[in-house]
Amino acid sequence: MKGDTLNRCMQCGHTYSEGMPRCPFCNPEPEPPMRIAIMEICDEVKEVLLEKNRMYGDSLANPVNIFHKGSDLDGINARIDDKLARIRSAQTDDAEDAELDLIGYLIMKRAVKRIQADRKGRAEHGVFE
Ligand SMILES: [Zn+2]
Repeated sequence: MKGDTLNRCMQCGHTYSEGMPRCPFCNPEPEPPMRIAIMEICDEVKEVLLEKNRMYGDSLANPVNIFHKGSDLDGINARIDDKLARIRSAQTDDAEDAELDLIGYLIMKRAVKRIQADRKGRAEHGVFE
């Protein structure tokens, strides 16, 4: 029966009856499906990356460097290349997961670069950790 399930507003996060065309709290313009898909996928990627970070810590940003002696970014670049090679040669059964991993590595690469730039900026201003 309509009205029993709830929609969650993508703008304000309130839930409201599925029978209502729009969120009554902020009354946004209805989002086209593409915008909804973008927001949902970005949220999913964020959740996956934060969960991995919770489980494995900052191993990508601070690798243990037992065998691999390159920079942090070298390590991430190697993982990106490896993932691309697996996608190209279809070694992966689930292409979507490989793509998700790839998205994740690209975001992690950007995060490491940002953290390094922040550290460099602080060091240049005489602020050390
Ligand atoms: Zn709302």
